[in-house]
Amino acid sequence: MDKRPFQPQLPKGVKIYLPDEAAAKRNVEQRLLSGFSRWGYREVVTPTYEYADVLSLGTDETLQERMFKLVDRDTGRMLALRADITPQIARIVATRLRDEPKPLRLAYLTNVFRYEEPHVGRYREFYQAGVELVGLEKPEADAEMIAMTVEGLQALGLAQFQLNVGQADFFRGILEELKIERGQGRQLQEALSRKDASTLDRLVKELAPPASTAELLLALPDLFGREEVLERGAKLVKNARSERALANLAEVHRLVRAYGLAEAVILDLGEVRGFDYYSGVYFEGYVSGLGAPLCGGGRYDHMLARFGYDCPATGFAFEVGRALLAMEAQRVAVPLEGPDFFIIDFTPEKTLALSLSRRLRDLGAAVARDIITRGLQESLVYARGQRARWALVIGGPKTKADELLAIELATGSERTLRAGELLEAPAKWFSIESGGGGRA
Ligand code: AMP
Repeated sequence: MDKRPFQPQLPKGVKIYLPDEAAAKRNVEQRLLSGFSRWGYREVVTPTYEYADVLSLGTDETLQERMFKLVDRDTGRMLALRADITPQIARIVATRLRDEPKPLRLAYLTNVFRYEEPHVGRYREFYQAGVELVGLEKPEADAEMIAMTVEGLQALGLAQFQLNVGQADFFRGILEELKIERGQGRQLQEALSRKDASTLDRLVKELAPPASTAELLLALPDLFGREEVLERGAKLVKNARSERALANLAEVHRLVRAYGLAEAVILDLGEVRGFDYYSGVYFEGYVSGLGAPLCGGGRYDHMLARFGYDCPATGFAFEVGRALLAMEAQRVAVPLEGPDFFIIDFTPEKTLALSLSRRLRDLGAAVARDIITRGLQESLVYARGQRARWALVIGGPKTKADELLAIELATGSERTLRAGELLEAPAKWFSIESGGGGRA
């Protein structure tokens, strides 16, 4: 017989989270979501799949091409797995929540699916934790997104992070001023997104705009940095739309400074990558140790109108897998907890093991039992491997019939307890916090 384990294939781009990884993932998700709820955001749950044409309403073309699609057996219509939560929330707000008082503060935690070439930190199924703030066009809403993102990064224990903040309308104003065709605009956008100065130079020469516009375009790749960027930009800009965008960015920055978070922010007027999707202030978050952004978001005032309800909105999302990679890179330890108690019972009838585990679980402790029969040392090795805090040994060689041995696994320290007394008042011997962490 072939003894090699069967190795069924896993499709590209998906990931299995083994227990320690799943615990770390849950820990990250809980930290983020509890932060969101402290800002007043309430969770919504969206369907994993919807009709492809409905989702496409709020999805730009490149992302539409990356959606996983399948056929609905009932109707023959095409379905798609969600590739982004924002269009789903936009449709929910436009259809089910439009009469609710504004602003709406909504949070989510879900997996999304995109056909992308897998890479380190790039999956086809990944997990986003984020929020949407709907019904506010004020800069205060944008500042709330930035402040919450910084708080999220801090809640994960990450240091050395930076948010690159841009304003989509700044570049839109310049394009309007140029009065050029879409294709030419794209070329400019692509050169800028790569910060490719030589291509930009060539394109500007070809377009031959007025000298002041040429100067601004050529300066764009360098228009990033601290607050002084606003002044540098203001000196160069000549059209009303970009001026308004700059004033808006300045106000958001003032509020971010008032939150005491200006240190975390780099302003980037040449940032054009999210320009198709976003309508105002938008940002991406980077941490040292991870090449890709681990969070991002911004204002998308035109999205809800696509679902028939004109209403401003902004939001952001963290990618949980990337957050875990960043924490690993920065050596941020995630607490991994095992059960509070591991009960080993050598008696044939196991009566005490059963009643004791029941009693301790009723008090909120986590209790696992060693159902396999093996030597005490082997059982203790297993218990340590499970990260149990205490082993309770019943019927072992060191104790009498009505006693048990409690071993603190981290230190090996032992004490003998009377079974009846422990059953009657476990709290006398162990302080048990609901949700884990029994203490002697
Ligand atoms: P987006 O919905 O495209 O704005 O992405 C929001 C965040 O999700 C980004 O900042 C990334 O951190 C993350 N992200 C986007 N695509 C992927 C992917 N294929 N795999 C993992 N994370 C991703």
